[in-house]
Amino acid sequence: NKSQIGWNFENSYAGLPDLLFTKQNPIPVRAPRLIKLNESLAAGLGLNADALRGSDGVDVFAGNQIPEGSEPLAQAYAGHQFSYFNKLGDGRAVLLGEQITPHGVRVDVQLKGSGRTPYSRGGDGRAALGPMLREYIISEAMHALGIPTTRSLAVVTTGEEIVRESLLQGAILTRIAASHIRVGTFQYAAQWGTLEELRALADYTIKRHYPDMEDGDNRYVSFLKEVIKRQASLIAKWQLVGFIHGVMNTDNMAISGESIDYGPCAFMDTYDPATVFSSIDREGRYAYGNQPYIGSWNLARLAEALLPLFDEDEEGAIELAQDALSDFSELFHEHWLQGMRAKLGIFNDEPEDEALIEAFLLLMQSNKADYTNTFRALSLDKPEDTALHGITEFAEWQKQWQARLDRQEESKEDSLRLMRSSNPAVIPRNHRVEAALEAAEQGDLCVMNSLLEALSNPYAYSEEQAEYTLLPDESPRPYRTFCGT
Ligand code: AMP
Ligand code: MG
Ligand code: MG
Repeated sequence: NKSQIGWNFENSYAGLPDLLFTKQNPIPVRAPRLIKLNESLAAGLGLNADALRGSDGVDVFAGNQIPEGSEPLAQAYAGHQFSYFNKLGDGRAVLLGEQITPHGVRVDVQLKGSGRTPYSRGGDGRAALGPMLREYIISEAMHALGIPTTRSLAVVTTGEEIVRESLLQGAILTRIAASHIRVGTFQYAAQWGTLEELRALADYTIKRHYPDMEDGDNRYVSFLKEVIKRQASLIAKWQLVGFIHGVMNTDNMAISGESIDYGPCAFMDTYDPATVFSSIDREGRYAYGNQPYIGSWNLARLAEALLPLFDEDEEGAIELAQDALSDFSELFHEHWLQGMRAKLGIFNDEPEDEALIEAFLLLMQSNKADYTNTFRALSLDKPEDTALHGITEFAEWQKQWQARLDRQEESKEDSLRLMRSSNPAVIPRNHRVEAALEAAEQGDLCVMNSLLEALSNPYAYSEEQAEYTLLPDESPRPYRTFCGT
């Protein structure tokens, strides 16, 4: 059933119990226009980029045409939002189906901003151009940083205005994900489904994401354990690059281990564990330094949802689940420590490494040093370029660090190479993302395209990227470039 474009849909999720979704087509829009297409992602999915740019492609991205083989649906899920449990679901998204790639990989194709669904509650089902492009930029940056994430295939404008604090251009993002099964999907099944429905969801998810344990003993506990492992690894990666998710509600934690839902997320500039960007997170629940704790809190909610299934595992499964939950912080810590060693050019393990790392972080914090640029300067062997230069404690710390590096076999050049492959030179800095979105809203996509280009190879340390390492007050203001598209 392959189309000209290359759509190759299956709809396995639609085979799950009715409880978990509602069949729902996207609501057509007035005047679709393609704003951004991810050509390399399209190619990997087996899709023809030229054909996608044509009206048959754009109409699919806009929800005006249902591609052959797609059975659109809105997924039901629940979620602890800022610790309060709510019944949710795709209120402004539909799953078109699962694209089977030329390599036989199954990925979700979801339209976000595609109109009202039975789960919309008071919402209009729509999304604005700025936030959809923001998700596009950040998710592609995360991918280039080597962090598991949902991807962005395309953004279209709808030709319709949406009402927020002001009138905004409506837009739809086409999101690609290993799946959209969330911790909250299990919470929904546990809360409102039968045991059979919960089991069907768990068996489906195991088959789709953790096929190795399909026939094993204790499959549900093993499943929980693997989800815990992937989240520990994922959140460690966030911490290492200074990524702050911003809304780590249980509906925004994917079972696949991908980062999902780029709302108020942002990258930390000045190093401070208390950093929060989201204006609605007044208590700092989702602050940078709190993310590992919230991760384990969310996983405990997953374990609770799976509880009825542990009875079907061997005796002692509940204890095993408990152990798995308590293992999270150690797993996280191992990933984090290993990653921090690499960021400082350290190849082997010594017990004092953690103290060395902590001392460095503390120096950054007390001197308000930029997290990314400080590691970048060290990776370029230019400590004199950091905000720490000239500070006595930093000079002392450098001596200890040098002594540590001298105790390993690898050369200084080896260390610097490891550091440059572990410390991104460029991240999507807030002021650059905002400038890109502002220009895009005015119809100028050059600013965003240049930013995306720089972000696509964050470990390159190239000349062209230098501009993107500037902090807000160093960059020329107002920042604007213009071009003909
Ligand atoms: P989020 O904060 O993006 O994770 O969304 C939380 C919930 O609100 C999800 O169930 C969304 O589908 C829903 N939602 C967000 N915005 C809208 C909207 N404009 N219309 C309908 N539902 C929405
Ligand atoms: Mg249903
Ligand atoms: Mg969400």
